[in-house]
Amino acid sequence: MTGRKRIYALLLCAGLVLVLSVSAAFIIQEADHDCTGEDCPICRNIAINIRLLRTIGLAALLLPALFLQPAVHAEHDRQDHHHAFLPRTLVSWKIRLND
Ligand SMILES: [Zn+2]
Repeated sequence: MTGRKRIYALLLCAGLVLVLSVSAAFIIQEADHDCTGEDCPICRNIAINIRLLRTIGLAALLLPALFLQPAVHAEHDRQDHHHAFLPRTLVSWKIRLND
């Protein structure tokens, strides 16, 4: 990873951590607010923050898999390339002829 990409990745991680922290702090702080009932703006903001946390949490779970997929495919292709040069015999395929 180049230096510039590393800086962007660190800034992205810091931004995500900041957003998650502020959202969680808002939910904790306003959990026992004096609710005005229906159409309460604080309840609406709490719901938005909960949805944001769920979305970012799901993205945090799925994005690494998305980024790791090309590496897994490259490793798989490399192993297939390695096996292409091995002789293909009944012994290498572990096939026994009992007749
Ligand atoms: Zn409320």
